[in-house]
Amino acid sequence: MNSAIRIKTKAPTPYILSAIEPDTHDTKTFRFALPADATLDMLPGDFLYVHATLDGKTIKRAYTPSSLPGSTGFFDLTVKRYESGVVSKYLHNQRLGDTVLMSGPNPGGHWVDGMATRVGFVAGGTGITPMISIIRWILTQRIDAELFLIFANKTETDIICRQEWEQDIREYRNFHCHHVLEQPPTAWTHGTGRVTPDVLRRHLPPPGPDTCVFLCGPPPMVDTLETTLKELGYPEQAIILP
Ligand SMILES: Cc1cc2nc3c(=O)[nH]c(=O)nc-3n(C[C@H](O)[C@H](O)[C@H](O)COP(=O)(O)OP(=O)(O)OC[C@H]3O[C@@H](n4cnc5c(N)ncnc54)[C@H](O)[C@@H]3O)c2cc1C
Repeated sequence: MNSAIRIKTKAPTPYILSAIEPDTHDTKTFRFALPADATLDMLPGDFLYVHATLDGKTIKRAYTPSSLPGSTGFFDLTVKRYESGVVSKYLHNQRLGDTVLMSGPNPGGHWVDGMATRVGFVAGGTGITPMISIIRWILTQRIDAELFLIFANKTETDIICRQEWEQDIREYRNFHCHHVLEQPPTAWTHGTGRVTPDVLRRHLPPPGPDTCVFLCGPPPMVDTLETTLKELGYPEQAIILP
């Protein structure tokens, strides 16, 4: 990456919230400050724990930085707010200048340069978050790999980073994206309903020694699609979970 100071902590460490960027109706990107010459010590796809003490109880939840790995001076978390969600609501209630305790980064289902030349991504909702930094990394580093994203959501307004995916399709010939919506608008040209075996067959690279597939989303979706991917011939080690 670069010669920046690389930050990793076991103990919860305070980070100052320096910017907030709305993305969808319930998702925002929160930017946290690092020293100007520092970056998180992580591979794309690794995650941090956010620690919060609420009603006297300390809890933690995992969040995958969405910023480009190697970025110095800041990192971003893209977080969906759940109405009954404890930590996601806590994060959405933070204001500029507030501090949030985090530990890590910790190893998740990450990308390692050279691991594949045909890379599938199957994301449901916020399951896209580990994939954001992986896709940004592969495209901006001009890594020799063909990328195939299948992104499932309820409605069009739930699609996180939608403008970015459209721009990537225009800018990078090696980036392909197929959306699947449960409730599509009229004249929708992508998929509808759920991610089926047929959708995987049509929109992922076929199984092979140079293929891997990142899979992340709500647990029922991940359980079902992991089984389906294996039935379609993707070996267990080629399926990467968060
Ligand atoms: C490795 C890893 C990385 C993650 N990275 C991110 C990330 O970058 N961005 C992000 O937004 N989230 C991410 N998550 C999910 C995150 O850790 C929390 O689970 C999520 O923010 C909900 O936490 P909460 O405390 O708000 O909700 P909780 O208090 O844990 O849950 C309360 C209620 O919220 C609702 N809820 C919570 N999670 C879901 C869900 N997945 N689907 C539907 N309803 C739900 C349910 O109604 C649930 O009963 C990641 C998870 C893992 C394991």
